[in-house]
Amino acid sequence: MPSQREGCLFCDIVRDGTYVAKTKGVVAIKDINPKAQTHLLIIPERHIESFREIGEFHAWELKRMLEFIAETARDVGLTDYQVLTNVGRSAGQTIFHLHWHVLGDVESHLEHSLALTAVSEL
Ligand code: 5GP
Ligand code: ZN
Repeated sequence: MPSQREGCLFCDIVRDGTYVAKTKGVVAIKDINPKAQTHLLIIPERHIESFREIGEFHAWELKRMLEFIAETARDVGLTDYQVLTNVGRSAGQTIFHLHWHVLGDVESHLEHSLALTAVSEL
């Protein structure tokens, strides 16, 4: 396992946790305190503190991580969603191991689509 950090919650989770999905070097878990109907966290195994240190990844690792975000979102049924990462304490970062939030709301998206369909049928 590449560069783990002693005492880091997300290093422990990527090593021992229960995943929604996993690929080489990256895992997806459910957020313990969801802020949307679907709220996943995409976490690279390698410990870097935040997006600020993104240059520590190779281009192929970044491609794999970003594709994994899109594939996982698709696999859990999301078409419309947010991908975001908080960088630094005052920006809302509370866990200092890089992670991407994937936030989506399948039902309200469906309701929105149905509402649009209903309007277009008038
Ligand atoms: P941040 O605030 O750093 O951008 O995001 C950290 C996220 O990790 C928060 O949304 C928080 O709910 C989530 N979180 C904190 N502790 C745990 C945990 O033990 N398990 C899981 N699955 N999520 C956690
Ligand atoms: Zn870590």
